[in-house]
Amino acid sequence: MDNQQQQQCRLALQALKAQLNDEIVSLQQSAQPVILDQQAVGRVSRGDALQQQNMALANLAQCRLRLHEVLHSEQKFDQAEYGYCEGCDKVINLSRLLARPDSRYCLDCQSASEQ
Ligand SMILES: [Zn+2]
Repeated sequence: MDNQQQQQCRLALQALKAQLNDEIVSLQQSAQPVILDQQAVGRVSRGDALQQQNMALANLAQCRLRLHEVLHSEQKFDQAEYGYCEGCDKVINLSRLLARPDSRYCLDCQSASEQ
């Protein structure tokens, strides 16, 4: 990977991190305990509100996991290991990295682990 490609991946990683942080902040608001006050809940029933809260909590857990992956990838940058598959040590395809900058594995290793 040349410097320009590294820079592209770094930017994609930063953008993903910012996006996840934003999402976490707004999900934390949605995951606040359900307010019993009917007026505050408005036309949404308490059941719906609870369901939304549970969904927000599930999404929040997902976002936190993904953020963990992003931080892991940032460390790989610092150790000059970014872009290499953690399974087979081969270079991960650039288009894959740009689409998913927190990829740990190349496509081959990823699909092998999913089978
Ligand atoms: Zn691999």
